[in-house]
This record gives sequence, structure tokens and C-alpha cells, in this order.
Amino acid sequence: MAEPIPTEQWAQVAEQIGGPLIYKKIPVQQPGPDEVLIHIKYSGVCHTDLHALHGDWPLKTKKPLVGGHEGAGIVVALGSLIEDIQIGDYAGVKWINGTCLLCSFCQQSDEPLCAKAALSGYTVDGTFQQYCIAKAAHVARIPKDCNLESIAPVLCAGITVYKGLKESGVRPGQTVAIVGAGGGLGSMACQYAKAMGVQVIAIDGGEEKRALTSQLGAETYVDYIRSENLVRDIKAATEDGLGPHAVLLVAASERPFQQATEYVRPRGTVVVMGLPASAYLRASVFESVIKMISIKGSYVGNRRDTAEAIEFFRRGCIKVSYKTCGLSELQKVYDLMEKGKIAGRYVLDTSK
Ligand code: NAD
Ligand code: ZN
Repeated sequence: MAEPIPTEQWAQVAEQIGGPLIYKKIPVQQPGPDEVLIHIKYSGVCHTDLHALHGDWPLKTKKPLVGGHEGAGIVVALGSLIEDIQIGDYAGVKWINGTCLLCSFCQQSDEPLCAKAALSGYTVDGTFQQYCIAKAAHVARIPKDCNLESIAPVLCAGITVYKGLKESGVRPGQTVAIVGAGGGLGSMACQYAKAMGVQVIAIDGGEEKRALTSQLGAETYVDYIRSENLVRDIKAATEDGLGPHAVLLVAASERPFQQATEYVRPRGTVVVMGLPASAYLRASVFESVIKMISIKGSYVGNRRDTAEAIEFFRRGCIKVSYKTCGLSELQKVYDLMEKGKIAGRYVLDTSK
């Protein structure tokens, strides 16, 4: 039997850029004809949510804003056009809340590039509330044998790094350097890379992140705070000293974006995924040419990437490293994130 849907719910609301966050009751919305309403049980907290609150990017957010885009829950209401999802199914709300499905990008399954993409927790309300709406076509289908609490971070961090690894072209037996490896995206990237047969050099700061990344299977750890010569240390961590075949930049600070082309291997690929405020990449033209380096951006993933990233999790290849607290404690999570003190991810339990 379908669960009753309340008229009001708890949510974390930012009335303006910079906050403060207000934990309060707001109305539950009704889904439109092509939408579903999901009772969000758990939501991961991504660094993107903090960028949104700070207004870090040259893209305006909705106001007032309910953030969040790693929401896992249960479908409780369907729009009149929806046929392939049932009430009671497990489903996930991800960053891409909906797209036009008609433009040339959507037609070629590059939905994140759709000019009309609605972004959860940014241009539409997201998952820091108990009931969230998303376009049915884009809702992540979560198999019933998955745990909703631990799968939540897969819905952004997992999909994004899985896609980034594919974009990097790195192959089994080769090496990837993951910059920001102890954070939310990075801790997932270590595991997806391992599951794909790729060796991992983890780069982050501090002992907690060393311990986490080594537990997740990284072969080497380079501490960016302690290292006196990062380029030398990362190259030295590869078998022949020539550097990693690919670099995934998933840090939320600018500095590492200035260095990656110095240690990536000739013919290697640097994949840019972190989105620090007002940041620029830096690469020597000479080195980029004579090393034949590729530099590319990678932005979340499409619906197929979503299904594949979830399947890695369902098969047990990915053990999400997370801590749980209540939705009411979101500010505490942001405070820790700001200081770079979160190893892995925080997941919010929306019932608390
Ligand atoms: P996080 O805060 O959990 O992790 C960032 C990690 O980077 C931390 O562990 C921190 O210690 C580490 N770090 C900071 N400076 C570093 C340095 N100089 N060298 C190495 N490591 C360093 O953040 P997150 O949730 O993993 O998100 C990371 C970034 O990715 C954010 O900017 C976020 O907006 C962005 N993001 C991009 C996409 C995309 O589609 N491209 C998707 C999701 C998130
Ligand atoms: Zn995210």
C-alpha cells in the first residue's frame, strides 16, 4: 500500500547566497505529468552544495534554495504520464534533475550538456528535504537489493568519477593519479579505478586520508601538504618513473589544477572535474605539445553512466565510505567540509 504523503516536510533552506541555512517546515510539492515525487530517505552532501551556497560559480541558483543532489529514497507519487516506475520503487535524485531530451546533446546521450538542464539543489529544489521532485526520465533506478543509505553518494560522486575514468581513457594495468583522493569524489574514484583494474596514486593531505585511501586500495599516497616536490613524488610512484597515464582532478582548490600537466605521462590525459571558485588551469604550451597531453573536462554522467555506476555498487565492487548524521545537522557538515576535514562522504538521514 502507498505510504501517506504529508502536506509539510522538514527541509534545509537557504534564503540567500551565503546562507544562513534555515532548518524548517515547507510544503510538499505535487509532481507534474512527467515527474515523480520521491520520499528522500538519505542524501549525500557534495562539495557542489557548498559552492552553491557560497555562490562560487558564474551560474545563478534558485532562491530560496533547497540544496542537495545525492538523494536516495522511495517513489511515493507519479505524474499522469509515468508508466515505467511504480510507487514503492527505490529511486535516486541526481544533479541532472531533468533535460529537454530533444536537443542534439540529449539525442546523443550527452544530457548534462543540455542548455535546458534543470539542476537538483541549484536551479530546482534538491534533496535536503524529505520529499523531492524529479523528471521521471532522469530519476536513477535503484535496485531493491541496494541499501539506500550507502548508495546515496553514488548518485553524484560515484557517477561523476566513473564517467571521468571512462573519459580519461585509462586502461586496466595502467595508473591514474587521483588528486583529492580522500574526499567524497576521490574516495569513490579510488574504488572505481580499482574495480576497473587501474592502479591508483592517491593525492591528498593528512594521515586520515592516507589511511582511508590505502584501505580503499590505492597503491601509493602522496601528501600534498608534506611533499617538498609533488611532481617528483608522483612520477616516482609509477613503475618506470614517467608519470601516471591519467590524472583525475577532484580537489575543490585551485592549486593542483596548475600542476597536473607537469607530472602526467607523455600521451597522458588530465581530466578536470573539481570546480573551485574562479579557478584557472595552467599548462606549459611547450610541454603540452611535446608530451602530446590531452586536457579535458568531465561533468557528471548520463543516464547510462548512472545505471552502470549503480551496478558496480550493487555487485559489491564499491564500498562507500561515509558517516551519517541528521538533515538538521547540515551546517556542521559544511563546517567540516570547508576545512577539508571530511574523509569520504557525509550522508544525511532526513528523518532526523
Ligand atoms: P571534498 O571536499 O569531499 O573533497 C575534496 C578533497 O580535495 C578533500 O579531501 C581535500 O583535502 C582535497 N584537497 C584540497 N586541496 C588539495 C590539493 N592541493 N591536493 C590534493 N587534494 C586536495 O569535495 P567533493 O565533494 O569530492 O567535490 C570535489 C569537487 O568536485 C568540488 O569542487 C565539486 O563541486 C566538484 N564536483 C564536480 C562534478 C563534476 O561533474 N565535474 C561533480 C561533483 C562534484
Ligand atoms: Zn555533487
